[in-house]
Amino acid sequence: MFESLSSRLGKVFEKLTGRGALSEADVTEALREVRVALLEADVALSVVKEFIGRVKARAVGQEVIKSVTPGQMVVKIVHDELIATLGTKGTELNLSAVPPVVILMVGLQGSGKTTTSAKIALKLKKEKKKVLLASLDVYRPAAQQQLQILAGQAEVGSLPIVMGEMPVAISRRAVDVGRKEGYDVVILDTAGRLHIDQELMAEVAAVRDATQPTETLLVTDAMTGQDAVTLAREFNEKVGVTGIVLTRIDGDARGGAALSMRAITGRPIKFLGAGEKLDALEVFHPDRIAGRILG
Ligand code: GDP
Repeated sequence: MFESLSSRLGKVFEKLTGRGALSEADVTEALREVRVALLEADVALSVVKEFIGRVKARAVGQEVIKSVTPGQMVVKIVHDELIATLGTKGTELNLSAVPPVVILMVGLQGSGKTTTSAKIALKLKKEKKKVLLASLDVYRPAAQQQLQILAGQAEVGSLPIVMGEMPVAISRRAVDVGRKEGYDVVILDTAGRLHIDQELMAEVAAVRDATQPTETLLVTDAMTGQDAVTLAREFNEKVGVTGIVLTRIDGDARGGAALSMRAITGRPIKFLGAGEKLDALEVFHPDRIAGRILG
């Protein structure tokens, strides 16, 4: 397993205990360890570099308070900066639009989009909202049926499947049904691909233009490593992301992708997926992810 950042830094500062303030040389040495820890946690390199720069600016010259070691002091600064970057603002779903409010789910295939769509539907149903789920994935034969089954489990509405209908037309019909049948929220689950391709982006952008979503949530597997940067940048530039959902945090992944995606898009992380079951959706608490990233 990975060595925790505290123990790494403990070693770096072993010889220095008792000094008054953190010198630039001490901090530089310590930040080498922080850098390794962040890279091990799958934070993207460009994000690591920028983050380290900010920590350095905060740490150099800081007085080390008596009750802690210099190592603990640096860990605290890193932890605080992680929390500040991950953010606590805007983590709630924005539902303030004329109903039906549209939530557009985007991401790569297998990221957990369909499951997360149903999880969010269930959460909103518990909050007394009337929710309609619609799958725009016309490429994988069973995708639309999969979402219908999950809608049944969550006991929320699902748009009847019309064979041969294309994504933009489905999304228009979903909003129409939503309006006519008094739904509060319509969740559109888009098709994913294994890799980003421009055809996918153009399709999602066309759906966005047709439905004017209030939320466009980028769903990403917590295992995503360096790819998180391209993924976040592409989706944000081409379709405009309003929030991020990180799935499979019930696994071993350290979740560095959360920091990368947040830093690249500036958009809040709204939910964490913590299992296959529909109630395994957690609201985002930055300290939990910060703790995981630091090990
Ligand atoms: P999609 O292709 O993006 O729609 O992905 P799916 O929603 O079909 O999910 C792919 C697989 O990941 C399914 O087997 C899900 O049960 C599973 N999955 C989704 N979210 C989570 C999660 O938070 N934790 C775990 N352990 N599995 C998940």
